[in-house]
Amino acid sequence: SLVSKANANPVGRRFKSTPFPSDHSNAEGTFLSQVKEYFDKAAGLTDYPQGLLKQIETCSAMVEVSFPVKMGDNHDYQIFHGWRAEHSHHRLPTKGGIRYSEAVDEQEIKALAALMTYKCAVVDVPFGGAKGGVKLDPKKYTANELEAITKAYAQALIDKNFISPGLDVPAPDMGTGPREMGWIMQTYKAAYPSNIDAAACITGKPVSHGGIRGRTTATGLGVFFCLKEALRTPYVLEKTGLTGGIEGKKVVVQGFGNVGFYAAKFCHKAGAKVIAIAEYNGSVYNENGVDPDDAFEFFRKNKTFDGYTKGKFLPTSREVLEINCDVLIPAALEGEVNAQNAERIKAKIIVEAANGPTTPKAEAIMEKNGVFVIPDLLANAGGVTVSYFEWLKNLSHMRFGRMTKRYEESKWANLVTSLEKSSKTTWSEEERKLISYGAGEEELVNSGLEETMITSFKEVLDTSIAKKTNMRTAAYVVAVSKVANTYLDLGL
Ligand code: GLU
Repeated sequence: SLVSKANANPVGRRFKSTPFPSDHSNAEGTFLSQVKEYFDKAAGLTDYPQGLLKQIETCSAMVEVSFPVKMGDNHDYQIFHGWRAEHSHHRLPTKGGIRYSEAVDEQEIKALAALMTYKCAVVDVPFGGAKGGVKLDPKKYTANELEAITKAYAQALIDKNFISPGLDVPAPDMGTGPREMGWIMQTYKAAYPSNIDAAACITGKPVSHGGIRGRTTATGLGVFFCLKEALRTPYVLEKTGLTGGIEGKKVVVQGFGNVGFYAAKFCHKAGAKVIAIAEYNGSVYNENGVDPDDAFEFFRKNKTFDGYTKGKFLPTSREVLEINCDVLIPAALEGEVNAQNAERIKAKIIVEAANGPTTPKAEAIMEKNGVFVIPDLLANAGGVTVSYFEWLKNLSHMRFGRMTKRYEESKWANLVTSLEKSSKTTWSEEERKLISYGAGEEELVNSGLEETMITSFKEVLDTSIAKKTNMRTAAYVVAVSKVANTYLDLGL
């Protein structure tokens, strides 16, 4: 195994079992310097003036906040450190998640904020990029403590004007979810009680508080749509030697959080064999496939795959990357595919569900070996795409479900019937209403997401062919060009 058990961090949330990237410094440079390397390579393939490229690349604004929260029975203060980077204001609001992890630091947040700018541009979501983070391991705190920390962080962002429906709109990222988004919205609403657009200050909220159906699954589903598109594109099939279609493909997923879980689930549903799933403290491997729902349930209960009888237990999170498979989906942390393991990666396609999972050195090695990489900017853009839908829904004060007569008459009725058949047998009139509303919204969201992923995949692929470069550089070229043109149109 590549990572000894002695290295494992037993309390880390996800994939912190190795020294990289928690210390963020290694032979391959920081995450921020790697994003810069990717950017520079792509910028070199465009004709935009140097100063403009520099402006696009530079982080526009950054706050660092330290805030005290009373903890525990002795009511002593603990000081927390947080950041929020607004990478690009070429479009407003800026957009990007909030990460809770012990590995969070300034350069990581800046790198992730830059990725958000480029990602939004790739999928034509009209936002600038941002990212926030608090340096803490959420596993070490109770729900009440996390609520206090989250509200204090939100208040600090409010004080600095780094959150607002029209300026900067956070969302979930690693270590946060709908619950935290609800707390943040609550804090914002308390500060601006008369702002009827307050709910749009954040996305990824609980559905009961202005969230949108389909946001939780969005990133994983977007990953799936990308893969599906790749596997019906003759150019990709020729390059990889794979046959068309998802069915029967061997898929390995590293990272079983919100993104990895749904990516695995949709692949499994479409007939792929999910042969390995990695969590931060070990992995499960079964050549005949693992059922993601079943594995998820086991992990939720036991907090480990050790003891799961439906596959072989591997004690690390990184071994799975080197398993012989068709598709590798890194859905954990940055830098997991690096110069140390790239040569041994056997997957034909990598779909980057995580942000920055591949280092530039690893990319060069894999390009030589013919691995087709669908980059983060494209592959995981489904999350922010549906965040955009949520933001639009909040600002329009409109419900998205049951929008058409046709829908009510056909799909609605069908859905209720199929749900009745599959699970509970009786539904109240109220439940029927909920189902119909919810399903209508989710259908609309998912079809918008699918269209976005397919169109963006084609645009990046076309650019990659035209510029004779790989998919990542092509995605950066697409992003840089769109942002550059926005600046030029503004006359800056
Ligand atoms: N944190 C997610 C990402 O990295 C989502 C951001 C958003 O929805 O604003 O793309």
